[in-house]
Amino acid sequence: MSAQDHIARRGWCPGVRRPMATGDGLLVRLHPFGGRLSADLARLVAQAARQHGNGHLDITARGNLQIRGVGEDTYPALLAQLDREGLVEPEGEGPNRLTVLSPLAGLDPRDRCDTLTLAQHIENAAASIEGLPPKVFVAVDGGGAMPLDAVGADLHLVALGHDAIAFGMSSSDNLHWVGASPLSRTPDAVHTILSGFANLRREGASEARRLRDLEPGLLRELIARADLHPAAVPARRSAPPRAGVMSHGNGQAVLLALPFGRCRTEQLVEAAAWSERFGSGEIRLSFTRGILLPMIADEHVSALIDEASRAGFITVPNDVRLSLSACPGRPDCGSALTPAPADALRLAESCGDLLRQGATLHVSGCTKGCAHPGRADLTLVGRHGGRYDIVPNGSTRDAASLHLSLEELMSRLSPSNTLDDLRGAFSEGRP
Ligand code: SF4
Repeated sequence: MSAQDHIARRGWCPGVRRPMATGDGLLVRLHPFGGRLSADLARLVAQAARQHGNGHLDITARGNLQIRGVGEDTYPALLAQLDREGLVEPEGEGPNRLTVLSPLAGLDPRDRCDTLTLAQHIENAAASIEGLPPKVFVAVDGGGAMPLDAVGADLHLVALGHDAIAFGMSSSDNLHWVGASPLSRTPDAVHTILSGFANLRREGASEARRLRDLEPGLLRELIARADLHPAAVPARRSAPPRAGVMSHGNGQAVLLALPFGRCRTEQLVEAAAWSERFGSGEIRLSFTRGILLPMIADEHVSALIDEASRAGFITVPNDVRLSLSACPGRPDCGSALTPAPADALRLAESCGDLLRQGATLHVSGCTKGCAHPGRADLTLVGRHGGRYDIVPNGSTRDAASLHLSLEELMSRLSPSNTLDDLRGAFSEGRP
């Protein structure tokens, strides 16, 4: 069977069985449960990416790992190799993996429930649902140090206590909390909502591919069927760290970030080696588009950070590159209208002080917004001719206020030192 028989169609999510054609060849996405890989498997993936792809990997905003630049001629051998290692998703057209977790799952002392077990029960309960759109996913959040509020899941589950799970729904501007269920009933409640959604699509009552796009009346009916009880809204938490060291009781977890989630195969091999030398021999892919190494003994933390910095990882939370999001852009993505990562780095030169203060900048090669589904202080959406649509304080789905070239953007950003300056620089009325 040729690669052409497998290639993902529009609206599907790429996987291993179903790669996606992009500007730099086929993209093959792996979905390990909980984002976990042993050091051995990480090395194997790196070696496969070198042999069958162009040596570039991405860590996605759902904590998946994608191999880039795979040739149509080498794809069948890659598929067979990953299948032998159990790294191929199940057959079928639904989500390749339904749940997204904190990379600290099972270790975070602030988590109020065992999110790994809960996520596994949800995966099992939902596995039989036919017709669930492939992009649907559920964030399973224990309420700990790495909130998943911004991942853009269809359903957000947050532990309120040891036996109460709050249910939240994403909308274009926020999360709306719709009730809670006891822990043991949560997988059934999730199944009720998702199977109801799939039924609506099968019956032709809706063509929505995400819960957030469902007609509000239909969504209310689905939620009512899940029999949730009224509950307090989860307390707001600080945004999750993107890099640095976190204590978890059995040692330290070191979160290594990668500019734009882009990882060279040598970096993955090095991370695997550090996990064996300094930690538990496990790496965890993070929804923050980095790699978390758990269970690092205190005395090894500084050596690990030194080596990781030299290998090109971002190791400190105040690195300005962490305020930037950019998708692969041109030429790597066939849908891209602009070279988003290169443009993002150029723009960062114009507004380093602003980024150091925590302002967020998202540069997207098209309206899909793969790199960052949520809002940013400034979102730029690529258009023809290297220009950008400008969305202050919004996402790629929001209406643009302006349409500018890169040079025009840089000249407006240069004098901006505060968020107020930034808002003023891109208000419509500005000359
Ligand atoms: S946002 Fe658009 S251009 Fe960027 S990777 Fe996604 S599809 Fe490609």
